[in-house]
Amino acid sequence: MNLATLLRRSALASGSLGAVALGDRTLHTFAQLERRVAALAGQLTRRFGLVPGDCIALAMRNCPQYVEAMFAAWHAGLTAVPINAKLHPREFEYILSHSGAKLCLVTPDLAEPLSALAVAGLRLIDVESAEYEALMAGDAAPIAEIDANDVAWLFFTSGTTGQPKGAMITHRNLLIMTASYFPDVDTIAAGDCILHAAPISHGSGQYMLPQIAAAAMQVIPASGGFDPGEVLDLAGVHTGMTMFAAPTMVKRLIEHPRAATADTRGLKTIVYGGGPMYVADCKRAMAVLGPKFAQIYGQGESPMTITALSKARHVDVHHPDYEARLASVGMPHTVVEVRVVDADDRTLPFGEIGEVLVRGDTVMRGYWRNPDATATTLRGGWLHTGDVGAMNADGFLTLKDRSKDLVISGGSNIYPREVEEVLLLHPGVAEVAVVGAPHPEWGEEVVAFVVARAGESPAVEALDQLCLDHIARFKRPKRYRFVAALPKNNYGKVLKTALRADLAAEAGS
Ligand code: AMP
Repeated sequence: MNLATLLRRSALASGSLGAVALGDRTLHTFAQLERRVAALAGQLTRRFGLVPGDCIALAMRNCPQYVEAMFAAWHAGLTAVPINAKLHPREFEYILSHSGAKLCLVTPDLAEPLSALAVAGLRLIDVESAEYEALMAGDAAPIAEIDANDVAWLFFTSGTTGQPKGAMITHRNLLIMTASYFPDVDTIAAGDCILHAAPISHGSGQYMLPQIAAAAMQVIPASGGFDPGEVLDLAGVHTGMTMFAAPTMVKRLIEHPRAATADTRGLKTIVYGGGPMYVADCKRAMAVLGPKFAQIYGQGESPMTITALSKARHVDVHHPDYEARLASVGMPHTVVEVRVVDADDRTLPFGEIGEVLVRGDTVMRGYWRNPDATATTLRGGWLHTGDVGAMNADGFLTLKDRSKDLVISGGSNIYPREVEEVLLLHPGVAEVAVVGAPHPEWGEEVVAFVVARAGESPAVEALDQLCLDHIARFKRPKRYRFVAALPKNNYGKVLKTALRADLAAEAGS
């Protein structure tokens, strides 16, 4: 089944409902959106000569056209290649060349930098131009017959080291992902909506699918990105609103001066994921915004579908394991198997720490034009996530840290997240990142980078005491660095590689 069928179905059943909005203004109903998509799909094949299986790149910041462009690509049987709008021109050049895309839809801000790139045979179309709008006047094309294992989305990983890899996500992967949203994450009613404050090229775009399937509207913020004040304003305009947010975005949202007083009844659900949510932060967020939170753990290679912690679990405060569950990433989605293994891929007993493996219909077909990486990552038929965690006897998975973030000091493993959770209990600490620094005697020593809350200056002695009260002595930081901000990538993930590089440079100088 072609993913475009999801839109067709909603257009038939709920054609008059709003499908796409810019801020508080509805732009298209479902019937209008489907017509635009079918017309655009027709032009992509007839005018630009694209054939099923070809790649079409989308170098766009969040904009209303994103929705129709993705669905038109699928309608025409093409592979969509969304590219994060904040990437460096060299990264654009690599992804555009590597994917072999012949056509690239761009927002005006990217038209000029991309036209300067040396990518052979690439044609750019500005989605705010008259040329683009004229494409909507063409004849509607039928939905292309595809194989469910055809690639729908070439998902480029955020890749903090080396070149990004393109995870080949098929129509089947995304359909099963869509189906699993409803039992495992949240319900959606026709007429609800999703606010795309995070990049559509990444996580937020995946959430478009269950929302379209349920005839909910796609709301693009007028700013095109994440502005906490704008989110609060839109929560007062729309109803049944969902938003996907990295934990760092949740933190910024609840720290907005109006967060506690704004009328946020329209904000139904915040699905967070993509990085660790600390227990103290999660509780604070629920205290400010109420029981609106659900967590997912996924990765580009198994989009948004590995485990989930439902809204109900977030408020199950009387459960004896409540704290531990809140610190976990929840239970495996109903559509996948998850296990934790040792270095030889043998399943470990409950509670033991190892690599997280996933198998199921949401797992990618492989990496685009990279058979070696595919063979390694999918060996034995299981996706090797590179994430480290432990499964408890109730089936809840707790992630520790990626193996490269583990600190080994004096032969003992120290999981930075455990130390970070403790330091965040201090009311004066806004953000923290713990890394290992080379140490001549211990191999590595624990260093904490701390961002203090405005007007606060937590004392090292108080932080040290907190650690002594909560965790083993050897895990506590030997050094503290107070910094104004932590380095983060375009998705709001803390770049521990940059922190380690700073420490290594210091040690070498
Ligand atoms: P990406 O493929 O760019 O979406 O990054 C996926 C990675 O983000 C995963 O492999 C995890 O390391 C991390 N991640 C995703 N969701 C969570 C979560 N809920 N908690 C902690 N880390 C997460």
